[in-house]
Amino acid sequence: MKTIATDLDGTLFKGETLIDGVRESILEIRRNDIEIYFTTNNSSQSPLEIRDKLVSLLDLEIDVDKIITPLIVFKNVLSQQINNIYIYGTEGLKNYIESLNIKIVNIDLSDVVLIGRKEINNGQEIKDIISHVQDGKKIYCLNKDLTYPTEFGEQPGNGAVVKIIEDELSINIESLGKSGKLYPSYFKKNGISINYVIGDRVDTDIIFGKSLNAISFLVASGVNNFLDTDMADHQLHDFSDVIPLIIKNS
Ligand SMILES: [Mg+2]
Repeated sequence: MKTIATDLDGTLFKGETLIDGVRESILEIRRNDIEIYFTTNNSSQSPLEIRDKLVSLLDLEIDVDKIITPLIVFKNVLSQQINNIYIYGTEGLKNYIESLNIKIVNIDLSDVVLIGRKEINNGQEIKDIISHVQDGKKIYCLNKDLTYPTEFGEQPGNGAVVKIIEDELSINIESLGKSGKLYPSYFKKNGISINYVIGDRVDTDIIFGKSLNAISFLVASGVNNFLDTDMADHQLHDFSDVIPLIIKNS
């Protein structure tokens, strides 16, 4: 059986609107016994919230276990090694981490620091993180997306704070998002082989596809790319243009 990993935002939907042809394409995928994983760097919603959004947009049942987010990667790949954590992020993120039986503590008591996103950045908190990481504290981030799409245009994402810390310390922070090593390792660790990756971003989706040795499809329905789009194996307009090609070859 062939397996697809598709991106969500800019690939299946934009904001609260499903992209044309996506529902029919998912039905076609199911009719052809192709497996599909829903992959996203979105960490501000829980996997269940993302499932509910997909169900309401697609009017189809979606298995939450097929939704892979940086939070799932954290849970699966990292959480067993961590007892005490310091979180830069929202209450929603803290609640999710606590549900994994990990204690949220002050930075000086923590094993690791995890960088998420806040509505308004806290300069003093970022300075504290920088000084602890300089002293050797392990640090991860949920993703490095500089912006994320909303109904009101693009907003500064997790990557904005990550970049401040990286630039200040001249380090590379390990990301749990698609561009990092841990995200693809989730699939390897769980024995899932991905044949095709579909997405709208070269810096996340296509890099992710390369790291899994999958055939990558870049769609033009989402963001403007700043990396070379020729890195993708194929470039098409929409998700619904990709699926007939995959079906023909599987
Ligand atoms: Mg996208």
